[in-house]
Amino acid sequence: MKNKIYLIDVTNRDGVQTANLGLAKLEKTLVNLYLDEMGIFQSEFGFPVTNHETNYLNANIDLVESGVIKNIRLSGWSRAIVKDVLEAKHRVPKLKYINLSMSTSDQMIKNKFQGKIDREKIIELASQAVKVAKEKGIVSVGVNAEDASRTDKDFLVEFASKMKEAGADRFRYCDTLGFDDPITIYDRISYIAKYIKMDIELHCHNDLGMVVANSVIGARAAIDNGVNAYINTTINGLGERAGNADLISVILALRKSSGFLSSNGKYVLDEKVDLSKAWRIAKYTSYAFGVPIPINQPGVGSNAFAHESGIHADGALKDRRNYELYDYEELGRGEPEIITTGRMISTGEYGGIKGFRNVYGELEIDFKSDEEAHRILELVRYANVHTQKPLTKDELLFIAKHPNEARQILTVTPNLENPSDI
Ligand SMILES: [Zn+2]
Repeated sequence: MKNKIYLIDVTNRDGVQTANLGLAKLEKTLVNLYLDEMGIFQSEFGFPVTNHETNYLNANIDLVESGVIKNIRLSGWSRAIVKDVLEAKHRVPKLKYINLSMSTSDQMIKNKFQGKIDREKIIELASQAVKVAKEKGIVSVGVNAEDASRTDKDFLVEFASKMKEAGADRFRYCDTLGFDDPITIYDRISYIAKYIKMDIELHCHNDLGMVVANSVIGARAAIDNGVNAYINTTINGLGERAGNADLISVILALRKSSGFLSSNGKYVLDEKVDLSKAWRIAKYTSYAFGVPIPINQPGVGSNAFAHESGIHADGALKDRRNYELYDYEELGRGEPEIITTGRMISTGEYGGIKGFRNVYGELEIDFKSDEEAHRILELVRYANVHTQKPLTKDELLFIAKHPNEARQILTVTPNLENPSDI
């Protein structure tokens, strides 16, 4: 089969672990649903060894089993140690996909592990974790080399080869600090892929402003050396520090840039990816994080299709291709947004049944009985306690259609007897 480029979105992992940012479990669930509708291959949906994630993770796997989440793979993230793998499978028994992370650079070995473990020990610990994950029924195991861009490339080859021997399915090259540039990442990925002959995931950061270029060129190197590429993205590029590769920008780069267009189909992005869902997912995630989309954001920024200067406006009006590389309709933009200017009835944590029925009536949801309406209202109140902002139409619909999963997602009970060890 022809090698391709697939997308693994890590908004629900890297995005939420970022300083000053967070999502409620209901919001993380909506992100998974939107990513699924967008045809994204995988969502790294959380931390299976963290107590407060357990209900959310299990409920989302139930949504997969009941067919509400249709195609996307939901994968957990943990450290590459046996203890974490066992804990992950204990808390989230139906977890099928996982990425296991181990730091590999001398910088991290010396200054993070502080000499407690060496290269040999790193390989031993991670191999054991991979083997146990496979024994416990994990279908696909990825292994992250944290700080790969500052790791000796021969050691990366050795590390990845040993992980492959232990049963790992993919190697994740983490440019944890955004240290690579497109040329260095091309060379390094080519070198590694040539030896290990194993699918490669690119996890890049934007500290030097090159994250999207590094991700797509790294993917190109994987394809050039005969393996599949998996690019890690986040919605709106939010992630640790200066962030990760923006999902929409990566899709645009892979489908619209000159080099990829002229490659005669050599570098193909997974055909399931549906760009027309871009506008909705970007807007929702901006709302959920409370972080505005920059006006100059590719594709979804408010200025992405705006023209004012005389020559540009004239040119764009004569033929949009004069000053636009792609059409706003392709990203699902162009619908007018209707904002009520008269009376507004909303529902939320202190809402009552009358206002609640009015809101759901406008969404064309009828309840079979008063009991059902009261149960859904109770969930809506709790959902609003969690999100602390007005619930969106899709959030309200999700709660009404999937009350059992919504209830589980909203249930967070501090576990003081067995606190998360991370
Ligand atoms: Zn990261």
